[in-house]
Amino acid sequence: MQFKWYNEMSFEDILKDAANLPPHTVIFWQLMNVDAAGVSHEGPSALFRLAATANAPIFTHDDAFFGEAILGGPMQTRTEVAKTTAEVAVRILDGEKAGDIKTPPLPLSPPKYDWRLMQRFGISESDLPPGSTVFYKPPSPWETYRWPILSALTVLLFQAGLITLLLLERHRRQTAEMDSRQRMVELAHVNRFSTAGEMAASIAHEINQPLGAILNNTETAKIMLKSQYPNLNEMGEIVDDIQRDNSRATEVIGRLRNFMKKAPFERKNFDLNDQVAETVKFLSPEARSRDIALRSKPNGAPLPINGDPIQLQQVLSNLILNALDATSDTSEPEKAVTVATTRTGNFAEVSIADTGPGVSPEAAKKIFDPFFSTKDHGMGMGLSIVRTIVETHNGRIEVDNRNGEKGAVFRVKLPLA
Ligand code: ADP
Repeated sequence: MQFKWYNEMSFEDILKDAANLPPHTVIFWQLMNVDAAGVSHEGPSALFRLAATANAPIFTHDDAFFGEAILGGPMQTRTEVAKTTAEVAVRILDGEKAGDIKTPPLPLSPPKYDWRLMQRFGISESDLPPGSTVFYKPPSPWETYRWPILSALTVLLFQAGLITLLLLERHRRQTAEMDSRQRMVELAHVNRFSTAGEMAASIAHEINQPLGAILNNTETAKIMLKSQYPNLNEMGEIVDDIQRDNSRATEVIGRLRNFMKKAPFERKNFDLNDQVAETVKFLSPEARSRDIALRSKPNGAPLPINGDPIQLQQVLSNLILNALDATSDTSEPEKAVTVATTRTGNFAEVSIADTGPGVSPEAAKKIFDPFFSTKDHGMGMGLSIVRTIVETHNGRIEVDNRNGEKGAVFRVKLPLA
């Protein structure tokens, strides 16, 4: 270890020298009142200037200098020095001879260090001697913001709990929705069966007609075949007729089978006009058997819908059958049910208008409720099923009386795909 003494240099030279000290050098500060050039330095100003320019850390024996320019270490404390001095002074005042008083060397206080200077010289806390205390260390974010952090954490925990609850709730709701949709599908199927039951007579009639015509034609053909020169052209026409009647009967059966199909709820893209045309065809025999004109007025352009075609066909058939029921009851000369489709904004609209008695304001309030019926053998489920299906398709249904004329009109609005 080498020592270099600064007491024979001017302070300005000391500053220059201290700025370029070799590595592994430290400065030990004792005191400076007057430098070698005779310049006097008041208070700790020289120490501060030295600390600002020196490239090595400064140590001292007196902790009074600690607090800005001194890195730290074990030091003597002012209070200890003052206490010992005062004790000696008291003994002198009590008459003891100063030369006889022997004071033991003052112990050094446990080492303490300035965190800011440790940063400047790259000294970590693990480099310090055991038992050291570090001063001037800025408090950690946890120490500064303990309460805001704790309250934020509480809020976060509360929020997480709430989100979990909401997710559970959503899961429960989705399960309930699926259950209710499944029940709706089953109920709707039962409803279709009972509708088909109601229409059995007209369907039988509708199939009987082509079957009767086929029988007639085959009998005629048999007679013609017995003649010596059967007219082959006429025979051809008869076979064509049989073929046509057969397809007619097959179509009726096909439609019935489609209508009775039990299928899970399934969305597809389709044209609402096609579904209306299909349903009107399916219910035409029933309307004919009741002497009611069933007309359809389709919108010119297609009305693309995303939904379950079987369920929507059921909506239409329930509404049309109700309209036929209402119209059957009247003694109006003109009995008609008109199914029209239009487009209003982003919605496709189907209206089913009849020439029946219409709906009273009281009935209109509960008409879509389950078990509301004014019919002798009515179940009162038809319109409730209709509303459920329409709402499952994000649509709306409303009932009104026809403007200025007798009869009710049901309007179903479905969002366009
Ligand atoms: P149901 O046909 O078994 O009675 P709905 O739910 O289909 O069950 O119909 C409920 C009631 O709504 C009917 O009983 C009838 O009073 C009334 N209603 C339905 N459609 C019409 C209509 N087009 N005109 C007048 N009343 C109607």
